[in-house]
Amino acid sequence: MHTIRENHKENYQKLLDRKLEEIKSKERVPTLLLHACCAPCSSYVLEYLSEYFAITVLFYNPNIEPEDEYRARAEELKRLIREMPFRHEVVYLEGNYEPERFHAAAAGYEEAPEGGPRCARCFRLRLKEAAEYADRLGMDYFTTTLTISPLKNAQILNRIGAEIAESCSAAFLPSDFKKRGGYQRSIELSREYDLYRQNFCGCVYSKSIEK
Ligand code: SF4
Repeated sequence: MHTIRENHKENYQKLLDRKLEEIKSKERVPTLLLHACCAPCSSYVLEYLSEYFAITVLFYNPNIEPEDEYRARAEELKRLIREMPFRHEVVYLEGNYEPERFHAAAAGYEEAPEGGPRCARCFRLRLKEAAEYADRLGMDYFTTTLTISPLKNAQILNRIGAEIAESCSAAFLPSDFKKRGGYQRSIELSREYDLYRQNFCGCVYSKSIEK
């Protein structure tokens, strides 16, 4: 019985659908702190979620190195937000660039393959920061663009988000943005806005296995 539960795969897109239905039936537009990893992944997520939320996009990615790469991704995200049309307000916010925090979180797991325990630690670091910003700003929800990537495990990301939400006042918004063609749509939008698409996830360890 216990094993079945542990192996259970939640459909996080369905959970998001339910939440969005609930939101639609209310008059007030809720606020969302959206952790964003880069412009291409944010394009579809912003197109989708700005229909329902007033969004503050948080670029907090101490995992990205070298710093030039970090700056290039941040600038591209700012440009996308300036150029895309949105139904509700979308504002950009940048966190601190502190790669030492990422290296402390990844310590001991430098050689782990992408998708393994180093990535779970990297997700936790970024989601925790997003939750703290959401609380400080009095936002209703927080979430991340990361579930759009076919290389990121939505089960792990959503479990970490829900766990972090237990100790903060903002609610975690579940997602699996790669469902319903989200990833494909992000490629189309990247072409449309001529976005820079990096070919590695972000950290030095993912760069050494460049695809
Ligand atoms: S591969 Fe990506 S998710 Fe994994 S630790 Fe590196 S930057 Fe973070």
